[in-house]
Amino acid sequence: MVVELISVGTEILMGNIVNTNAAYLAEQCNVMGLVCYYQTTVGDNEKRLTETIKTAMSRADLIILSGGLGPTKDDLTKEICAKVCKKELVEDKASKEAIKDFFQKRGKKPTENNWKQAMVPKGCIVLDNPNGTAPGIIMEEEKNTLILLPGPPNELVPMFADKVIPYLKSKQEAVMVSQTVKIVGVGESSVAAQIDDLFEKQTNPTIATYAKVGEVHLRVTARAEDEKKARKLLKPMIKELKNRFSEHVFTTDPDVTLEQSIVDLLVDNDLTVSTVESCTGGLVAGRLINVPGVSEVFKMGHITYSNKAKRKIIGVKRSTLDKYGAVSEQVAAEMAKGGFGMTKADVTVSVTGIAGPDGGTAEKPVGLVYIGCCVKGKVTVKKYNFSGSRAKIREATVSAALVLMRECVLAYVSEMAFGKKK
Ligand code: ATP
Ligand code: MG
Repeated sequence: MVVELISVGTEILMGNIVNTNAAYLAEQCNVMGLVCYYQTTVGDNEKRLTETIKTAMSRADLIILSGGLGPTKDDLTKEICAKVCKKELVEDKASKEAIKDFFQKRGKKPTENNWKQAMVPKGCIVLDNPNGTAPGIIMEEEKNTLILLPGPPNELVPMFADKVIPYLKSKQEAVMVSQTVKIVGVGESSVAAQIDDLFEKQTNPTIATYAKVGEVHLRVTARAEDEKKARKLLKPMIKELKNRFSEHVFTTDPDVTLEQSIVDLLVDNDLTVSTVESCTGGLVAGRLINVPGVSEVFKMGHITYSNKAKRKIIGVKRSTLDKYGAVSEQVAAEMAKGGFGMTKADVTVSVTGIAGPDGGTAEKPVGLVYIGCCVKGKVTVKKYNFSGSRAKIREATVSAALVLMRECVLAYVSEMAFGKKK
């Protein structure tokens, strides 16, 4: 089935807001196996919106429109869709009640134009909107289906996830099921090279590669007549990818982040963690603290930005700083060891680097970063050379710190297991 997306709103055309709805809808459609050839953004203008809808109806089966369902005069989407499809607008009782309710709960009174939102094209499917007043609308026409969604993302996303996806799935003859193999510690081109043979002969399931900062995701998608059959098709491919990338795979669950997998690893092995950061200024701790339940393992985070803080708080030796400089393997090691001793955490990660744009030299250029990890007293330090803006370098550093930490903890855990076996 071919889908076309239409984003309605002059604000988007003018660059006042970023079109996150289109990105979300395109990705979701792709996961469901819907093919998207065109996305259009059009302002709140009757003539141009009419033309855009007609054009979309001539070349796509399914048209998803976002925005312009509000109560004001410039919100035209529903009216124009109804006109193009020659449908009159009728009052939807449930939507009227929902609007009443929405205002009552907030102790406010609806204005006259709010009732406009209870008007829907005759014969359509109405999607209630628990997060706003504009209901979503599905119009099943002779050759096309039009789906109208409210513009605010906090209304559109839950409506699409909870109501539109099940609707579309019920219409699809085949089911698409995806699973994502998430990899760290291997670059994108190396991942691609290692699955070249699988890529060449892929039919069902298919594999798609996505590079994230410090991570590579392989999304495997199978198509079958029901979910059970699709999952069965996925299984051998997921197993094969897990075999090929072994310990580099941190999850196959689409909802699990790298930090979540690390926190799980720490919890499972009863290990606590602390951080000592310089150029990342707390971002490593922040990523870990993103994870609910991290309080079980996270002890303390230090930001030791100045040399004095590195010495006084964490115990880096003045002589080490003088001899090697703050951005050095030796200082990263002393930061990790010092943090470990001070916080009594089982694992301490340290970061020191030059995020730029100034402060680089020929010997120590911008982007030079040392990351240390101390697990139960054993210190590992790695050197990195990142590039890009200050923000990019810091983001890459955070990701690398998490990856190094994961590697060190895994090494420790397997050493322990080996020791026990002996
Ligand atoms: P409202 O009832 O708020 O008027 P609406 O369905 O008419 O909702 P719009 O008026 O088009 O939607 O947009 C309302 C707000 O929703 C915008 O100001 C913007 O913050 C957000 N929004 C709209 N379209 C998009 C989009 N494509 N991507 C991200 N945000 C959007
Ligand atoms: Mg509006």
